[in-house]
Amino acid sequence: MAASLDPIALFEAVRDAGGAIVDFRCMDLNERAEQFLGRPRDVLLGALISEALPRSREVGFIDRCVSVVGDGEPVEIEERVNDPAVGVRWVRYRIARVDDGVAIAVRDITDRKFDEESLRVGEERFRLLVETASDGIYRIDPRGIFIYANPVAGRVLGVGDEGLVGRTYLDFVRPDYRVEGIELYTRQIKNHTPVTYWEFPALRADGREVWVGQNVQIEVQDGRVTSLYAVARDITARRYAENALRESEERYRFLAEHSRDMLARLDPGGRFVYVSPACRAMLGVEPEQLLDTPFADLCEAEDADAVRAAHERLRDARDAEITSTRMRHADGREVWCETTHQAIVDAESGNVTGFLIVARDVTERRRLEEELRHVQKMEAVGQLAGGVAHDFNNLLTAIRGFSDVLFQSIRADDPRRGDVLEICKATDRAATLTRQLLAFSRRQVMRPEPLNLNTVVTDLARILQRLLGEGVTVSTRLDEDLAIVRADPGQMEQVLLNLALNARDAMAPAGGTLRIETANVDMPAAPDSRHAPGRYAVLRVSDTGVGMTAEVRDRLFEPFFTTKERGRGTGLGLSMVYGIVTQSGGFITVDSTPGQGATLAIHLPAAGTGADTARRPASRARTVPAAGGTILIAEDSEGVRMLAERILRDEGYTVLAARDGVEALEVARAHEGTIDLLLTDVMMPRMNGGELARAFAAERPDTLVAIMSGYMDEHALRRTLDNPETPILQKPFSGATLVERVRAILQQPATR
Ligand code: ADP
Ligand code: MG
Repeated sequence: MAASLDPIALFEAVRDAGGAIVDFRCMDLNERAEQFLGRPRDVLLGALISEALPRSREVGFIDRCVSVVGDGEPVEIEERVNDPAVGVRWVRYRIARVDDGVAIAVRDITDRKFDEESLRVGEERFRLLVETASDGIYRIDPRGIFIYANPVAGRVLGVGDEGLVGRTYLDFVRPDYRVEGIELYTRQIKNHTPVTYWEFPALRADGREVWVGQNVQIEVQDGRVTSLYAVARDITARRYAENALRESEERYRFLAEHSRDMLARLDPGGRFVYVSPACRAMLGVEPEQLLDTPFADLCEAEDADAVRAAHERLRDARDAEITSTRMRHADGREVWCETTHQAIVDAESGNVTGFLIVARDVTERRRLEEELRHVQKMEAVGQLAGGVAHDFNNLLTAIRGFSDVLFQSIRADDPRRGDVLEICKATDRAATLTRQLLAFSRRQVMRPEPLNLNTVVTDLARILQRLLGEGVTVSTRLDEDLAIVRADPGQMEQVLLNLALNARDAMAPAGGTLRIETANVDMPAAPDSRHAPGRYAVLRVSDTGVGMTAEVRDRLFEPFFTTKERGRGTGLGLSMVYGIVTQSGGFITVDSTPGQGATLAIHLPAAGTGADTARRPASRARTVPAAGGTILIAEDSEGVRMLAERILRDEGYTVLAARDGVEALEVARAHEGTIDLLLTDVMMPRMNGGELARAFAAERPDTLVAIMSGYMDEHALRRTLDNPETPILQKPFSGATLVERVRAILQQPATR
């Protein structure tokens, strides 16, 4: 019977409580069993199981013992014991058959039981957590296939009930991000990086795009990565907000830093808190230098008050205010500045916390506006002067002509001859004035030809020295390669003469130096330039005289503007210069400071390389024999018409006269014989000279035509005529000139 196996010793070895039971009585037990059953060994030995273990029936203990003895199969029973002293415990009974009874091993498995329980509950809780999480949670195998995904993940990626499991993760990554994703996770798997974070645009199954930010954790078993866990979130809204913010910030910074306008933020006291780099170009200062300086302090005193007043208004009104202020550039020049001010209002308190300003340099614009105003004024004055001069010219022509006639009719010894001569002289002076006015208004007959301004200077230099007197030293410096221009040589002489005379007056009585220079200047093709780009020949006249103030400089070219005493200056000299230069396509610059002399520079555009297209004025026939013939005069100015009639009739011509083109045609149609010459004015009521000439070409092709005009630019006039060779007789003309020209025309049979 001796047990080959001592179960109790065995129990001790495995540290279970244990005992042997034969016939339902306790035959042996170890110390742990004593503790477990709570009674000493001697009381327990021989006791019935039901006595030793009061709960044995409930546990089904006795039945199990019977079955073990019966079939020899060991059994295990687990019992949950609620011990008031220590709380819930779990006990496991293992019952096995031994020789004549059973051995029972009892073990406290509470700890293990609890572990299992918590694991079960934990898993349950965890599952609940994952399923209801607001983030998408998924697990992917190393090949990139979804092994698990919670419902949110499916929703984020736009897959419905079919779920993500089995699908390929990369399919949901926008193609241009795939390489980055592959690289990132390949690296994570290779390096066993515990966690990574990545943001990528995901292509949902429905085609929409969302931005996803995901934390990925690797799962490692036996040194190998078996799967990747991801917690992913839809960050689309955040991304867009961030992007929009970043973009708009960048845009604003770009605008502020690159704008030519000066952008700034002022504190409530109007002091700079921020100012854009444009202040360097605009005011010649570094942004840092302006900080804490009141904006108003940059402005001229009276403008500063306007700025402060604007800020004061902004505190209540909150609309934008615009100020126009003068400022000083660091280099001393004046800068006109147009500034928009806007209050910055605190949304909560409603207080003005500062001002935003945008300041624009409008100096150049103002200068151009000023210049435009000036040019327009000159234009208007020119038109007025031209109109007056035109009528005046006709009157002078008549006065001059009839004076001539009168002079001729008075005998040489008659004292009244001297009186008539005075009338003639006064008329000549008046004619000079009108010519200057006409030059200014650009209505002078101009005969431009290719011209080297150097010749004008050298031709005139000797006369000039004599004209200007001992006190004035004349020095010339001429550019030998001076560009050829197209200009009327006579006019250019007048220009130089006028500049020289003004210089003399400016240097009187002390005298000084008059410098005449020529040079080429190239005008760049600047978009805001007032002058056509290209090469110009420049005639520069400088003196060492009194110079002029800005006011004088501004009005210099106005007709009748003079600072000279009555009777000395007419104020027409520079007006004429202006007219001639402008008519020749050029411009004048003036450089002068009071007390420092003056420099006036005439710029004329270089002529194209074209041939000499200007026609030399027809050489005047000096001695032309008198010849009869019929001449039709068409002229609306009665004085001129009567004068011409009188002079030509006295010369032996048959003269017909008409007051305009229509009457001239009527007269011609009524006239039986030939008409050798039609002498017509240009501007006439009803039908002008050009139309009349055309009518004559049709009706009386043999009649020669000549134009009388004191009015227009010869080029412009010729363009209105069908026959460019038509002779032009410039008003005012003397009787002698008229006779001379008419004779010459009638002797040139080819001219019509
Ligand atoms: P005028 O000589 O008859 O006064 P201008 O038209 O020639 O008329 O000149 C107008 C005014 O311009 C002059 O009265 C003078 O004040 C000023 N001016 C012209 N040239 C000079 C110069 N070289 N230096 C100083 N002032 C000048
Ligand atoms: Mg003058």
